[in-house]
Amino acid sequence: MEIDLNRLTGIGKPWKFVNTRYDDDKQEMEMLLEYDERQAPCPKCGPICSFHDRAPERRWQHPAMCLYNAFVVCRVPRTKCTEHGVLTIEPEWAAPRGQFTLMFEAKVIELLQMCQKQERVAKMMGISADSVRTIMKSAVELGLARREAANPKHLAIDEKSYGKGHNYMTVFTNGDSSHVIDVITGRGTEEVVKGIEAILSPKARQGVAITSMDMAASYAKAASVTCPNAKRVVDRYHVSVHVGKAIASARRQGVKELNEAGETEKAKALKGVLPALRYNPANRPAKHQEVFDAALQASETVATVWKHGELLRGFYDRIPKRIAKNYLTRWVDTAQNLKIPSLTHLGNLVERHFHGILDGKLLKCSNAVAESINSKIQEFKTAARGFKSFERYRFNTLFYCGGLDMLPQKTR
Ligand SMILES: [Zn+2]
Repeated sequence: MEIDLNRLTGIGKPWKFVNTRYDDDKQEMEMLLEYDERQAPCPKCGPICSFHDRAPERRWQHPAMCLYNAFVVCRVPRTKCTEHGVLTIEPEWAAPRGQFTLMFEAKVIELLQMCQKQERVAKMMGISADSVRTIMKSAVELGLARREAANPKHLAIDEKSYGKGHNYMTVFTNGDSSHVIDVITGRGTEEVVKGIEAILSPKARQGVAITSMDMAASYAKAASVTCPNAKRVVDRYHVSVHVGKAIASARRQGVKELNEAGETEKAKALKGVLPALRYNPANRPAKHQEVFDAALQASETVATVWKHGELLRGFYDRIPKRIAKNYLTRWVDTAQNLKIPSLTHLGNLVERHFHGILDGKLLKCSNAVAESINSKIQEFKTAARGFKSFERYRFNTLFYCGGLDMLPQKTR
Protein backbone atom coordinates (compact mmCIF):
# COMPACT_ATOMS: atom_id res chain seq x y z
CA MET A 1 0.00 0.00 0.00
CA GLU A 2 1.39 3.35 -0.91
CA ILE A 3 0.44 6.61 0.77
CA ASP A 4 -0.11 9.58 -1.52
CA LEU A 5 1.62 12.37 0.39
CA ASN A 6 0.82 14.97 -2.27
CA ARG A 7 -2.80 14.26 -1.64
CA LEU A 8 -2.56 14.17 2.16
CA THR A 9 -0.54 17.35 2.49
CA GLY A 10 -2.40 19.30 -0.16
CA ILE A 11 0.95 20.08 -1.82
CA GLY A 12 0.50 19.41 -5.53
CA LYS A 13 2.55 19.40 -8.71
CA PRO A 14 5.26 20.23 -9.59
CA TRP A 15 6.25 19.41 -6.02
CA LYS A 16 6.96 15.75 -5.41
CA PHE A 17 7.63 13.78 -2.24
CA VAL A 18 10.68 11.64 -2.65
CA ASN A 19 11.26 10.12 0.78
CA THR A 20 10.27 10.09 4.46
CA ARG A 21 12.48 10.03 7.54
CA TYR A 22 11.31 9.02 11.02
CA ASP A 23 12.63 9.87 14.45
CA ASP A 24 10.84 7.55 16.85
CA ASP A 25 12.33 9.12 19.96
CA LYS A 26 11.09 12.57 19.08
CA GLN A 27 8.00 11.16 17.37
CA GLU A 28 8.71 13.20 14.32
CA MET A 29 8.41 12.42 10.65
CA GLU A 30 10.04 14.38 7.88
CA MET A 31 8.59 14.30 4.39
CA LEU A 32 11.24 15.12 1.82
CA LEU A 33 9.90 17.27 -0.95
CA GLU A 34 11.44 18.19 -4.29
CA TYR A 35 10.56 20.60 -7.02
CA ASP A 36 10.09 18.36 -10.01
CA GLU A 37 10.79 20.84 -12.84
CA ARG A 38 13.90 22.24 -14.43
CA GLN A 39 12.53 25.78 -14.57
CA ALA A 40 10.38 28.06 -12.43
CA PRO A 41 8.90 31.57 -12.49
CA CYS A 42 11.12 34.39 -11.24
CA PRO A 43 9.64 35.51 -7.86
CA LYS A 44 10.00 39.16 -8.87
CA CYS A 45 8.77 39.38 -12.45
CA GLY A 46 7.00 36.09 -13.14
CA PRO A 47 8.38 34.78 -16.46
CA ILE A 48 9.72 31.27 -16.42
CA CYS A 49 13.44 31.32 -15.75
CA SER A 50 16.02 28.67 -15.74
CA PHE A 51 16.86 26.73 -12.67
CA HIS A 52 20.01 27.92 -10.91
CA ASP A 53 20.43 25.64 -7.92
CA ARG A 54 18.68 24.70 -4.67
CA ALA A 55 18.66 26.72 -1.48
CA PRO A 56 19.89 24.98 1.69
CA GLU A 57 17.51 22.50 3.28
CA ARG A 58 14.71 23.95 5.41
CA ARG A 59 11.77 22.45 7.21
CA TRP A 60 8.20 23.56 7.75
CA GLN A 61 5.89 22.07 10.32
CA HIS A 62 2.74 20.43 8.94
CA PRO A 63 -0.33 19.08 10.80
CA ALA A 64 0.58 15.88 12.65
CA MET A 65 0.17 12.52 10.95
CA CYS A 66 -1.23 10.01 13.45
CA LEU A 67 1.11 10.18 16.45
CA TYR A 68 3.97 11.88 14.65
CA ASN A 69 4.60 15.58 14.40
CA ALA A 70 5.10 16.07 10.69
CA PHE A 71 7.52 18.29 8.79
CA VAL A 72 7.96 19.08 5.15
CA VAL A 73 11.67 19.22 4.32
CA CYS A 74 12.77 20.84 1.11
CA ARG A 75 15.61 22.48 -0.74
CA VAL A 76 13.64 25.13 -2.54
CA PRO A 77 14.90 25.92 -6.04
CA ARG A 78 16.57 29.18 -6.94
CA THR A 79 15.97 30.70 -10.33
CA LYS A 80 18.26 32.83 -12.40
CA CYS A 81 16.47 35.72 -14.05
CA THR A 82 18.27 37.86 -16.59
CA GLU A 83 16.93 40.95 -14.87
CA HIS A 84 16.74 40.00 -11.17
CA GLY A 85 19.53 37.51 -10.82
CA VAL A 86 19.44 34.52 -8.51
CA LEU A 87 16.35 34.34 -6.28
CA THR A 88 14.76 31.65 -4.12
CA ILE A 89 11.20 30.90 -5.18
CA GLU A 90 8.41 31.22 -2.65
CA PRO A 91 6.53 27.94 -2.24
CA GLU A 92 2.79 28.46 -2.52
CA TRP A 93 2.18 26.00 0.34
CA ALA A 94 4.04 28.02 3.01
CA ALA A 95 3.80 31.52 4.39
CA PRO A 96 6.76 33.72 3.37
CA ARG A 97 9.65 33.17 5.77
CA GLY A 98 7.34 31.09 7.98
CA GLN A 99 8.23 27.90 9.80
CA PHE A 100 4.87 26.36 9.02
CA THR A 101 2.96 25.15 6.00
CA LEU A 102 -0.21 27.07 5.22
CA MET A 103 -2.25 24.01 6.12
CA PHE A 104 -0.62 24.00 9.55
CA GLU A 105 -1.41 27.68 10.06
CA ALA A 106 -5.00 27.11 8.94
CA LYS A 107 -5.34 24.30 11.47
CA VAL A 108 -4.02 26.53 14.28
CA ILE A 109 -6.47 29.27 13.31
CA GLU A 110 -9.40 26.86 13.29
CA LEU A 111 -8.46 25.47 16.68
CA LEU A 112 -8.08 28.95 18.14
CA GLN A 113 -11.52 29.85 16.92
CA MET A 114 -12.93 26.80 18.69
CA CYS A 115 -10.88 27.08 21.87
CA GLN A 116 -9.57 30.45 22.94
CA LYS A 117 -6.81 29.12 25.12
CA GLN A 118 -3.63 29.83 23.18
CA GLU A 119 -1.49 27.68 25.46
CA ARG A 120 -3.75 24.70 24.94
CA VAL A 121 -3.71 25.09 21.16
CA ALA A 122 0.09 25.38 21.29
CA LYS A 123 0.30 22.10 23.18
CA MET A 124 -2.11 20.34 20.85
CA MET A 125 -0.14 21.42 17.79
CA GLY A 126 3.30 20.80 19.30
CA ILE A 127 4.53 24.40 19.05
CA SER A 128 5.22 27.26 21.48
CA ALA A 129 2.60 29.77 22.60
CA ASP A 130 4.71 32.46 20.97
CA SER A 131 4.44 30.66 17.63
CA VAL A 132 0.66 30.50 18.08
CA ARG A 133 0.61 34.24 18.59
CA THR A 134 2.80 34.83 15.55
CA ILE A 135 0.36 32.81 13.44
CA MET A 136 -2.60 34.72 14.89
CA LYS A 137 -0.93 38.00 14.15
CA SER A 138 -0.19 37.19 10.54
CA ALA A 139 -3.72 35.81 10.14
CA VAL A 140 -5.09 39.14 11.35
CA GLU A 141 -2.79 41.03 9.00
CA LEU A 142 -3.95 38.86 6.10
CA GLY A 143 -7.60 39.39 7.10
CA LEU A 144 -7.13 43.15 7.32
CA ALA A 145 -5.44 43.26 3.91
CA ARG A 146 -8.34 41.30 2.39
CA ARG A 147 -11.09 43.32 4.08
CA GLU A 148 -13.11 45.86 2.15
CA ALA A 149 -13.18 49.46 3.39
CA ALA A 150 -15.70 49.93 6.21
CA ASN A 151 -18.89 51.80 5.38
CA PRO A 152 -21.11 51.49 8.45
CA LYS A 153 -24.46 53.19 8.98
CA HIS A 154 -23.96 52.67 12.70
CA LEU A 155 -20.57 53.18 14.33
CA ALA A 156 -20.19 52.03 17.94
CA ILE A 157 -17.38 53.55 20.01
CA ASP A 158 -16.41 51.84 23.20
CA GLU A 159 -13.79 52.13 25.91
CA LYS A 160 -11.80 49.25 27.41
CA SER A 161 -9.01 49.12 29.93
CA TYR A 162 -6.00 46.84 29.69
CA GLY A 163 -2.87 45.86 31.60
CA LYS A 164 -2.35 46.89 35.17
CA GLY A 165 -3.43 50.34 36.26
CA HIS A 166 -5.27 52.64 33.96
CA ASN A 167 -4.43 52.08 30.33
CA TYR A 168 -7.33 52.73 28.05
CA MET A 169 -8.11 51.83 24.51
CA THR A 170 -11.03 52.57 22.23
CA VAL A 171 -12.82 49.91 20.20
CA PHE A 172 -14.59 50.90 16.97
CA THR A 173 -17.33 48.50 15.94
CA ASN A 174 -19.41 48.36 12.79
CA GLY A 175 -22.87 48.38 14.35
CA ASP A 176 -24.47 46.93 11.19
CA SER A 177 -22.36 43.77 11.22
CA SER A 178 -21.24 43.77 14.87
CA HIS A 179 -17.65 43.33 13.76
CA VAL A 180 -14.82 45.30 15.33
CA ILE A 181 -13.24 47.59 12.73
CA ASP A 182 -10.19 48.50 14.78
CA VAL A 183 -8.80 49.31 18.19
CA ILE A 184 -6.64 52.30 19.16
CA THR A 185 -4.83 53.31 22.34
CA GLY A 186 -6.30 56.13 24.39
CA ARG A 187 -9.78 57.58 24.72
CA GLY A 188 -9.20 61.33 24.34
CA THR A 189 -10.95 63.46 21.71
CA GLU A 190 -7.88 63.92 19.55
CA GLU A 191 -6.94 60.24 19.59
CA VAL A 192 -10.48 59.16 18.77
CA VAL A 193 -10.81 61.69 15.94
CA LYS A 194 -7.57 60.35 14.44
CA GLY A 195 -8.79 56.80 14.95
CA ILE A 196 -12.08 57.40 13.14
CA GLU A 197 -10.31 59.20 10.31
CA ALA A 198 -8.00 56.23 9.94
CA ILE A 199 -10.77 53.64 9.64
CA LEU A 200 -13.39 55.55 7.63
CA SER A 201 -12.94 57.49 4.41
CA PRO A 202 -14.38 61.04 4.32
CA LYS A 203 -17.31 59.69 2.28
CA ALA A 204 -17.93 56.84 4.71
CA ARG A 205 -17.90 59.30 7.62
CA GLN A 206 -20.57 61.38 5.90
CA GLY A 207 -22.65 58.24 5.56
CA VAL A 208 -22.67 57.32 9.25
CA ALA A 209 -26.24 57.81 10.51
CA ILE A 210 -25.82 56.70 14.12
CA THR A 211 -22.89 56.77 16.51
CA SER A 212 -23.38 54.95 19.78
CA MET A 213 -21.18 55.26 22.83
CA ASP A 214 -20.97 55.61 26.58
CA MET A 215 -21.34 58.98 28.27
CA ALA A 216 -17.77 60.24 27.86
CA ALA A 217 -17.55 63.83 26.61
CA SER A 218 -14.48 63.06 24.50
CA TYR A 219 -16.37 60.43 22.48
CA ALA A 220 -19.30 62.78 21.90
CA LYS A 221 -16.95 65.49 20.69
CA ALA A 222 -14.96 63.17 18.44
CA ALA A 223 -18.13 61.71 16.93
CA SER A 224 -19.65 65.09 16.14
CA VAL A 225 -16.40 66.31 14.56
CA THR A 226 -15.90 63.27 12.35
CA CYS A 227 -19.45 62.11 11.58
CA PRO A 228 -21.43 65.32 11.11
CA ASN A 229 -24.63 63.63 9.89
CA ALA A 230 -24.86 61.08 12.66
CA LYS A 231 -27.31 61.03 15.51
CA ARG A 232 -25.36 60.35 18.68
CA VAL A 233 -26.96 57.80 20.97
CA VAL A 234 -26.07 56.37 24.33
CA ASP A 235 -26.80 52.71 24.19
CA ARG A 236 -28.56 50.74 26.81
CA TYR A 237 -25.56 48.69 27.79
CA HIS A 238 -23.76 51.77 29.08
CA VAL A 239 -26.83 52.98 30.94
CA SER A 240 -27.16 49.63 32.68
CA VAL A 241 -23.47 49.73 33.67
CA HIS A 242 -24.22 52.97 35.53
CA VAL A 243 -27.34 51.48 37.11
CA GLY A 244 -25.13 48.67 38.42
CA LYS A 245 -22.68 51.19 39.85
CA ALA A 246 -25.50 53.11 41.56
CA ILE A 247 -26.80 49.92 43.15
CA ALA A 248 -23.30 48.99 44.37
CA SER A 249 -22.88 52.42 45.88
CA ALA A 250 -26.35 52.26 47.49
CA ARG A 251 -25.37 48.97 49.06
CA ARG A 252 -22.29 50.53 50.63
CA GLN A 253 -24.40 53.39 51.91
CA GLY A 254 -26.97 50.93 53.26
CA VAL A 255 -24.31 49.04 55.22
CA LYS A 256 -23.03 52.29 56.70
CA GLU A 257 -26.50 53.49 57.67
CA LEU A 258 -27.43 50.22 59.33
CA ASN A 259 -24.15 49.97 61.24
CA GLU A 260 -24.55 53.54 62.47
CA ALA A 261 -28.06 52.72 63.66
CA GLY A 262 -26.69 49.69 65.52
CA GLU A 263 -28.58 47.30 63.23
CA THR A 264 -25.59 45.04 62.62
CA GLU A 265 -27.72 41.98 61.89
CA LYS A 266 -29.49 43.78 59.08
CA ALA A 267 -26.18 45.13 57.78
CA LYS A 268 -25.02 41.53 57.43
CA ALA A 269 -27.93 40.88 55.08
CA LEU A 270 -26.23 43.24 52.60
CA LYS A 271 -23.08 41.14 52.38
CA GLY A 272 -22.42 39.58 48.98
CA VAL A 273 -25.79 40.58 47.57
CA LEU A 274 -24.63 42.28 44.37
CA PRO A 275 -24.99 39.21 42.13
CA ALA A 276 -28.56 38.75 43.38
CA LEU A 277 -29.34 42.43 42.79
CA ARG A 278 -27.96 42.33 39.28
CA TYR A 279 -30.44 39.82 37.88
CA ASN A 280 -33.45 40.78 35.88
CA PRO A 281 -36.30 39.57 38.17
CA ALA A 282 -37.55 37.27 35.43
CA ASN A 283 -34.20 35.41 35.30
CA ARG A 284 -33.20 35.51 38.95
CA PRO A 285 -32.15 32.01 40.02
CA ALA A 286 -33.98 30.56 43.02
CA LYS A 287 -30.79 30.44 45.11
CA HIS A 288 -30.49 34.23 44.86
CA GLN A 289 -34.11 34.95 45.70
CA GLU A 290 -33.80 34.70 49.47
CA VAL A 291 -30.66 36.85 49.54
CA PHE A 292 -32.40 39.38 47.36
CA ASP A 293 -35.53 39.57 49.52
CA ALA A 294 -33.50 39.91 52.71
CA ALA A 295 -31.36 42.72 51.25
CA LEU A 296 -34.34 44.74 50.13
CA GLN A 297 -36.05 44.24 53.46
CA ALA A 298 -32.95 45.26 55.41
CA SER A 299 -32.24 48.54 53.65
CA GLU A 300 -34.65 51.04 52.24
CA THR A 301 -31.82 52.81 50.45
CA VAL A 302 -30.93 49.65 48.56
CA ALA A 303 -34.60 48.90 47.86
CA THR A 304 -35.23 52.39 46.46
CA VAL A 305 -32.20 52.45 44.19
CA TRP A 306 -32.87 48.93 42.98
CA LYS A 307 -36.48 49.83 42.21
CA HIS A 308 -35.39 52.85 40.18
CA GLY A 309 -32.93 50.72 38.30
CA GLU A 310 -35.84 48.46 37.43
CA LEU A 311 -37.93 51.44 36.30
CA LEU A 312 -35.13 52.39 33.97
CA ARG A 313 -35.02 48.83 32.65
CA GLY A 314 -38.76 49.20 32.14
CA PHE A 315 -38.11 52.29 30.03
CA TYR A 316 -36.38 50.02 27.55
CA ASP A 317 -38.50 46.90 27.86
CA ARG A 318 -42.06 47.97 28.57
CA ILE A 319 -42.66 51.61 27.74
CA PRO A 320 -44.13 52.35 24.28
CA LYS A 321 -42.16 54.82 22.18
CA ARG A 322 -44.91 57.44 22.17
CA ILE A 323 -44.68 57.99 25.92
CA ALA A 324 -40.95 57.27 26.27
CA LYS A 325 -39.96 60.91 26.55
CA ASN A 326 -42.46 61.70 29.31
CA TYR A 327 -41.59 58.55 31.16
CA LEU A 328 -37.87 59.35 31.14
CA THR A 329 -38.49 62.96 32.20
CA ARG A 330 -40.49 61.75 35.19
CA TRP A 331 -37.89 59.16 36.01
CA VAL A 332 -35.12 61.77 36.12
CA ASP A 333 -37.29 64.01 38.27
CA THR A 334 -37.96 61.34 40.88
CA ALA A 335 -34.39 60.05 40.89
CA GLN A 336 -33.02 63.53 41.54
CA ASN A 337 -35.45 64.22 44.37
CA LEU A 338 -35.13 61.15 46.52
CA LYS A 339 -32.04 62.44 48.31
CA ILE A 340 -30.00 59.29 47.90
CA PRO A 341 -26.59 60.36 46.58
CA SER A 342 -26.06 57.47 44.17
CA LEU A 343 -29.54 57.90 42.73
CA THR A 344 -29.19 61.67 42.41
CA HIS A 345 -25.92 61.08 40.59
CA LEU A 346 -27.58 58.60 38.23
CA GLY A 347 -30.49 60.99 37.67
CA ASN A 348 -28.10 63.81 36.79
CA LEU A 349 -26.20 61.57 34.42
CA VAL A 350 -29.39 60.52 32.62
CA GLU A 351 -30.48 64.16 32.46
CA ARG A 352 -27.19 65.23 30.89
CA HIS A 353 -27.50 62.50 28.26
CA PHE A 354 -31.27 62.66 27.97
CA HIS A 355 -31.46 62.91 24.17
CA GLY A 356 -28.81 60.31 23.54
CA ILE A 357 -30.56 57.87 25.86
CA LEU A 358 -34.00 58.61 24.44
CA ASP A 359 -32.74 58.20 20.86
CA GLY A 360 -31.04 54.98 21.89
CA LYS A 361 -34.48 53.60 22.63
CA LEU A 362 -36.38 55.28 19.80
CA LEU A 363 -33.89 54.24 17.12
CA LYS A 364 -33.67 50.78 18.63
CA CYS A 365 -29.98 51.12 18.14
CA SER A 366 -29.01 47.63 19.08
CA ASN A 367 -27.41 47.73 22.46
CA ALA A 368 -26.63 44.15 21.59
CA VAL A 369 -23.58 45.39 19.68
CA ALA A 370 -21.63 46.85 22.58
CA GLU A 371 -22.86 44.12 24.85
CA SER A 372 -21.94 41.19 22.65
CA ILE A 373 -18.54 42.63 21.78
CA ASN A 374 -17.88 43.24 25.45
CA SER A 375 -18.79 39.73 26.44
CA LYS A 376 -16.70 38.24 23.61
CA ILE A 377 -13.73 40.37 24.60
CA GLN A 378 -14.21 39.32 28.20
CA GLU A 379 -14.17 35.66 27.16
CA PHE A 380 -10.86 35.69 25.36
CA LYS A 381 -9.38 38.11 27.89
CA THR A 382 -10.18 35.63 30.65
CA ALA A 383 -8.81 32.74 28.58
CA ALA A 384 -5.56 34.65 28.15
CA ARG A 385 -5.59 35.84 31.79
CA GLY A 386 -5.54 39.45 30.64
CA PHE A 387 -3.30 41.30 28.22
CA LYS A 388 -0.29 43.30 29.22
CA SER A 389 0.31 45.05 25.94
CA PHE A 390 -2.01 47.02 23.72
CA GLU A 391 -0.72 45.30 20.58
CA ARG A 392 -1.64 41.89 21.87
CA TYR A 393 -5.06 43.10 22.96
CA ARG A 394 -5.64 44.63 19.56
CA PHE A 395 -4.82 41.59 17.47
CA ASN A 396 -6.80 39.33 19.77
CA THR A 397 -9.80 41.62 19.46
CA LEU A 398 -9.51 41.65 15.69
CA PHE A 399 -8.90 37.91 15.57
CA TYR A 400 -12.00 37.03 17.60
CA CYS A 401 -14.34 39.96 16.85
CA GLY A 402 -13.17 41.35 13.52
CA GLY A 403 -15.18 39.01 11.28
CA LEU A 404 -12.04 38.69 9.17
CA ASP A 405 -11.34 36.16 6.45
CA MET A 406 -8.08 34.88 7.89
CA LEU A 407 -7.56 31.39 6.52
CA PRO A 408 -4.59 31.12 4.20
CA GLN A 409 -5.66 30.10 0.69
CA LYS A 410 -4.73 27.00 -1.31
CA THR A 411 -5.07 24.84 1.75
CA ARG A 412 -8.63 23.60 1.65
ZN1 LIG B 1 12.81 38.42 -12.80
